[in-house]
Amino acid sequence: MAATARASEHCRPRSDSDRCPGALRLHDALDGALARVRLPGGRASAAQLAALAAGGRLGSGIVEITSRANVQLRGLPQGAGEPLGALLADAGLLPSPEHERARNILASPVAGRHPGAAGEVDELVAALDRGLCADPALATLSGRFSFVVEDGSGILSGREHDVALCVSRGAATPEAGLFLDGGDTGLRAPIAGAAELALEAAHAFIAERGAAAAWRIRELPGGAERVAARMGVKLAPQVDGGPAAGGRTTPPVPPGRLRQRDGRVAITALPPVGRLDPPQLDRLAALARGCGTEARLSPCRTVTLVDVPDAHAVAVERELDDLGLVLDPASGWRGLSACAGLRACRRATADVRAAAAARAAQRAPDAPAEHWTACERRCGESGDVPVAVSIDAQGGEVRTGGRVRRVAAVEEALVLLAGERGS
Ligand code: SF4
Repeated sequence: MAATARASEHCRPRSDSDRCPGALRLHDALDGALARVRLPGGRASAAQLAALAAGGRLGSGIVEITSRANVQLRGLPQGAGEPLGALLADAGLLPSPEHERARNILASPVAGRHPGAAGEVDELVAALDRGLCADPALATLSGRFSFVVEDGSGILSGREHDVALCVSRGAATPEAGLFLDGGDTGLRAPIAGAAELALEAAHAFIAERGAAAAWRIRELPGGAERVAARMGVKLAPQVDGGPAAGGRTTPPVPPGRLRQRDGRVAITALPPVGRLDPPQLDRLAALARGCGTEARLSPCRTVTLVDVPDAHAVAVERELDDLGLVLDPASGWRGLSACAGLRACRRATADVRAAAAARAAQRAPDAPAEHWTACERRCGESGDVPVAVSIDAQGGEVRTGGRVRRVAAVEEALVLLAGERGS
């Protein structure tokens, strides 16, 4: 499994403390307090969707899907932490308050269900989460340390990670391989026991980190090699941007309908710029409940209802469309995201959400992922996004494939990107 993080992130020493927000440790954002709720595997049951809607109502009503398939509730007032914590705990979204920021576990929104999946991984994700939450030492992991569980479909191949379990068909039965920051440890385990490998790797990182101010494996000099050595193995040479384990790389799940391996369907909808409001979440909860299923959020800021019986598919699609969500796989909204921007963040001087809407009208459906931000803080910009635009009152810059160009304003960035091949 290859990592595509920017080289500059590797081994960069940390001089600040980990202020990554959580559900209990709120971030004092410019539009009020911000809570980030971790959803391992991007999973949210009907009751949990309803709890997130209620949490959104405590604040401004802006609910964002993040680039790690978590949820952010914005504009929370002073004193909202306690009622928010209570309603999240009631919905099972805080199984261990001490570990709430460490539960960064990514999986495909159609985990184990994609036609290319090599095995079922829902239980692996759940076992990893349980193991993490049961281990006091692992509560010291940074809120940015991430686990990836790739089911062999290749949908998460190349996704940056600290620790990844990558499932392949194996000689007789499916097995999971352990990767550290893109490097193959050569360690393999049956899926049922693979969570232990990932937890062992997290312990090895904590031991290697010692007192160093490193949040992630890549921030330790020789980090992946050192963690592997502590586990008693030698890491295979790392290949940034190279082929994934098993040679399979699959594009993200597009909006619309996907036939699952078991014959049922998964229906994916895209909220423009990854933003939902409480009424939409309530209706999603009702929809999931009515189908006897749950929602899966993805790093592409989509919502997928999995395991939908054929007989319900058309009605589900109609309801998602009625909610204002995008179901067209050819939509220019695919892969397009933006920070909170004007009217949600006082630092913003450019309306990057309006800019994103303009880009959605011009982008090709297979254009590379693109993120817009309204100041140099670049909130929500993942290290591996191919196109990044940052605009402020002084102008801004457009980054495409390692090339950085200055622009005077949003309009110039739009013109520049419209002229890019394949954009
Ligand atoms: S990047 Fe966007 S959301 Fe983040 S501080 Fe700047 S304007 Fe605010």
